[in-house]
Amino acid sequence: MSFDRDTICVQGGYTPGNGEPRQIPIIQSTTFKYATSEDMGKLFDLEASGYFYTRLQNPTNDYVAAKICQLEGGTAAMLTSSGQAANFYAIFNIANCGDHVVASSTIYGGTFNLFHVTMRKMGIEFTFVNPDCTPEELEAAFRPNTKAVFGETIANPALTVLDIEKFAKAAHSHGVPLIVDNTFATPVNCRPFEWGADIVTHSTTKYMDGHGAGVGGCIVDSGKFDWMAHADKFPGLTTPDDSYHGITYGERFGKEGAFITKCTAQLMRDFGSIQSPQNAFILNLGLESLHVRMQRHCENGLAVAQFLQNHPKISYVNYCGLPGDKYHELAQKYLPNGSCGVVSFGVKGGRKAAETFMKHLKLAAIETHVADARTCCLHPASATHRQMNDEELAAAGVAPDLVRLSCGLEAASDLIADLSQALDKI
Ligand SMILES: *Cc1c(COP(=O)(O)O)cnc(C)c1O
Repeated sequence: MSFDRDTICVQGGYTPGNGEPRQIPIIQSTTFKYATSEDMGKLFDLEASGYFYTRLQNPTNDYVAAKICQLEGGTAAMLTSSGQAANFYAIFNIANCGDHVVASSTIYGGTFNLFHVTMRKMGIEFTFVNPDCTPEELEAAFRPNTKAVFGETIANPALTVLDIEKFAKAAHSHGVPLIVDNTFATPVNCRPFEWGADIVTHSTTKYMDGHGAGVGGCIVDSGKFDWMAHADKFPGLTTPDDSYHGITYGERFGKEGAFITKCTAQLMRDFGSIQSPQNAFILNLGLESLHVRMQRHCENGLAVAQFLQNHPKISYVNYCGLPGDKYHELAQKYLPNGSCGVVSFGVKGGRKAAETFMKHLKLAAIETHVADARTCCLHPASATHRQMNDEELAAAGVAPDLVRLSCGLEAASDLIADLSQALDKI
């Protein structure tokens, strides 16, 4: 029996047996007991599945990962300690020193820095392309050693909408997977696998948790990418792993399981960015109401965007739900039920006016955060994107005067009244 997304949000991932806890149990244990060394040996060889050490896997995490996997329509998933860890693992699982990745230039500042600075030090090269580029421009970014393509469904904070089909087509014509960070849209509003993406990542810190309570991440595999058919490009998945007694992940676990099994067995084992079971439990509480909250975040986002669009002190508004927005057409295709609660805009008078305006907001707090039940705002050029020069800022779609407002779950009328009185102070 297959269920609607709303039902999966509430009940997916965990089905208790007779007399078992109704809510998912928090298995607050680092380790698990076995009767014989032989039993344990089989787990280490990946011959039997089971738990032995929480750095690799924990039942609480697996229940929650299974729910997100169902929501995205994937075949396997894992939780990570943060969204940063999820994106790092997703790339590093298939790209090594000497490899190359094509990425959208408007991705989240933290991810841009991870790719452009830290992973470059590891010998992985990135080419950043404008998400609105033509298929020819996209084509020109590929190299013989390209191993993946990466973008965000709705970019944070640029709010560009990714033409997922265009990027998937280009990736597949070069025999590499498309990885999509679906943090802002969530599977409630977009399922990138339905448009050709192969791997989806999340910062669960945002809407999935939704209450600003726990940092976390997730990686989901669609199970569609045929690693063995492109064996020469992905030796890590298609040749024996000496650190696991010669297992070839692509053969042993197939298209459906190879990516996540390798990512757990190698990267989680070696880097250890596991989510704590306690945080996974908190994340699941958020997921139980994700479908209800997303609807309200989108309603508030649209109401606020409409108010700002008509305000004389506002120079521009980015919100793909607004008719006339540059991304409205793409949003109607990929996000027909709504996008997210994040709106960005420019205040006339530039940086100085934006600062005055933000200082006078009473409900919207200044925070390095988005996608929370409480409305918050940020001036990216002086916070999350501070490390970028003007050229990089422009490529990232972040104007120096851009204000990012994350509409929470309060009454839209109160949010609008708050914005209105703060704009009056300029
Ligand atoms: C916040 C964010 C991240 C990073 O996630 P953390 O959980 O903060 O590590 C990655 N991608 C996007 C789109 C984000 O918004």
